[in-house]
Amino acid sequence: MRINYAKKHSMAPSTIDRSQAQAILDATVPLHEAFSLAARERERYCGKDVLIHILDNIQNGHCAEDCGYCAQRRSASGVETYPLKSDEAIFEDARQAKETGAYRFCMVSSGTGPSKNTTERLAKLIHRISNELELKVCLSAGAVDKEKAQVLAEAGLDRYNHNLNTSDKHYDAICSTHNFTDRLQTLTHLAEAGVGLCSGVIVGLGESIEDLIDVAYALKKIRAASIPVNFFIPVPGHAINYPTELTPEFCLRVLIVFRLINPDSEIRLAAGREGHLRTLQAMALLVANSLFVDGYLNVKGSKMEATLALIHDAGLTPVSSGDFHGPVAPQQGYDAAEFPDLLKFPKK
Ligand code: SF4
Repeated sequence: MRINYAKKHSMAPSTIDRSQAQAILDATVPLHEAFSLAARERERYCGKDVLIHILDNIQNGHCAEDCGYCAQRRSASGVETYPLKSDEAIFEDARQAKETGAYRFCMVSSGTGPSKNTTERLAKLIHRISNELELKVCLSAGAVDKEKAQVLAEAGLDRYNHNLNTSDKHYDAICSTHNFTDRLQTLTHLAEAGVGLCSGVIVGLGESIEDLIDVAYALKKIRAASIPVNFFIPVPGHAINYPTELTPEFCLRVLIVFRLINPDSEIRLAAGREGHLRTLQAMALLVANSLFVDGYLNVKGSKMEATLALIHDAGLTPVSSGDFHGPVAPQQGYDAAEFPDLLKFPKK
């Protein structure tokens, strides 16, 4: 089944209620039972497709905000800082992302939010990338007001990323310069302008199970079309006082709950998938239906070849943009040098 991703997000009803979500997260429900329920919903709404996203950090550092999980926050140091890349450099990054096999190109810039001039500049780029490369564009540039949201929508922006990150109750523990309501405000402006919402969570910021359930339902309420599920990476200089110790099983249970509460959303394996899900990544892809390739903001991640092997090994299909014919499955198998005693499969 090939999905029409251009269709408006329909928002299917949740498959579980709060108490069932709690039972999945506190491991009262056996993993195989919860997993099979979520895998069934994933197959129903997303088929076998896996959407591949590539991030481009178009501006790094220089941020006045104080998000405790972020290496670019105002009092952190140690990350490379650079101003907004030139339009040509960003366009070239987008062209390369398309050639590599990206379905969506995600431009991310640090800072509280774009100025009027920057918004207009980004709008021109969005228009050019969408039209000349036929690549879907997602922008993550911080807080925007009604007018800026309108400018971006008119440029043809497919999605805007602005994560809710955690619950309203827990927000004070992760950031001192803005709050949950500020984040919702930006998302409301974009939704009203007609831009699809990409908004997700960071798991492991010292939140409770209840906080995770709250944010999963908050994302449902705003009709988030895509939900990146990040697992906290303790970057040098972070200000999260009590990060949660995450196990691969718990991370998988979180993905299951996000899928079952938001059955037809694009659930994405985002930052930290490699280190936190570890050998459960292929199982996680049978619950989620998209992922990032080639790293995250200031942190390296799996390369395309390893990611394609993961997708193909799980019996899934990578989806790229436009007329790109799709990445080829890498040839895998036993290396004869390491296993000289193995018999060869007979040729038919
Ligand atoms: S998440 Fe964005 S707004 Fe917050 S500190 Fe990092 S760059 Fe700044």
